[in-house]
Amino acid sequence: MAKGKSIREFLEAGKPLFSVEFFPPQDEAGGERILATAKSLTPHQPDFVSITYGAGGGTRATTMRYARILREEHGFEVMPHLTCVGHTRDELLEILDDFAEAGFCNVMALRGDPPKGETEFKAVPGGLRYGSDLVALVRERFPHFGIGVGGYPEKHPEAPDMATDLSHLKTKVDAGADFITTQLFFDNRDYLAFVASCRKSGIEIPVLPGLLPVLSLGQVKRFCDMCGTSIPGGLRRKLEAEDKKDQPEIGARWALEQVRGLLREGAPGFHLYALNQSASTLAILEGLKGD
Ligand SMILES: Cc1cc2nc3c(=O)[nH]c(=O)nc-3n(C[C@H](O)[C@H](O)[C@H](O)COP(=O)(O)OP(=O)(O)OC[C@H]3O[C@@H](n4cnc5c(N)ncnc54)[C@H](O)[C@@H]3O)c2cc1C
Repeated sequence: MAKGKSIREFLEAGKPLFSVEFFPPQDEAGGERILATAKSLTPHQPDFVSITYGAGGGTRATTMRYARILREEHGFEVMPHLTCVGHTRDELLEILDDFAEAGFCNVMALRGDPPKGETEFKAVPGGLRYGSDLVALVRERFPHFGIGVGGYPEKHPEAPDMATDLSHLKTKVDAGADFITTQLFFDNRDYLAFVASCRKSGIEIPVLPGLLPVLSLGQVKRFCDMCGTSIPGGLRRKLEAEDKKDQPEIGARWALEQVRGLLREGAPGFHLYALNQSASTLAILEGLKGD
């Protein structure tokens, strides 16, 4: 099994990186979509791709299955996500062992959201309470792993204020995180202010901006309701002015402008929440070619 490359190394190389996030498909049609998307991205060789981990461990097997396919059939460096939801510490170690045995050497370490119908996150008996606990566990038992953590330019919805959220983010960094990937945002000023606040708080690791090329107004409203991201008036009006079928193009153009602005400002790269679809990602890459 070829040894993977730590994302830490990509970031240290100093060249802006490009990464794409997939999610584990729920059915056969979804499976075909992720494979078709992976195929169309293969010639562009993202520096890494990540694959999310479903609530309550419901996607444990599918996350692993597609993580392997993405690496073995498409040659991507793959970072599986892992959450604390519904798992004991021993189960988390088992899953991490599986990742390591399969040759993965990066993990996005998250607390996860409370299960559907619950408003408050509760660790299972013998489980972990915060993202920082999972980071500490990975760092202790798999010291060679690259560890990513989530960061929230508009604050995590449960945090009482930004300063408190940043102090918790600092705990994750001190526990051993290598880089932060942000929650989606649509106004680059939010990202830049967040990075400045991180630096003031003593958080020095790279902050990779996570961008969602919007596919429809309805969908982005749903996502933003869940994660607390705001939709700028300008983007909302552009989407409202178009038919649903033309909204993905608006979303891709907005994301392209965000990427351009972020790279100009020295961001370490960009991470696309591509939702297992390739058209917007390809449009963004094509747009950047001319720059
Ligand atoms: C890049 C990215 C990828 C994601 N991928 C997935 C995925 O694959 N699967 C999935 O289910 N979800 C995913 N999520 C969503 C994520 O699980 C949720 O945002 C979750 O609510 C928080 O996870 P966290 O690891 O950031 O939590 P934490 O860092 O634990 O923070 C959660 C809340 O607890 C607070 N907190 C932290 N430490 C303490 C402390 N010591 N005392 C008191 N309060 C504290 C924080 O301020 C915050 O409000 C992702 C999010 C991002 C940004």
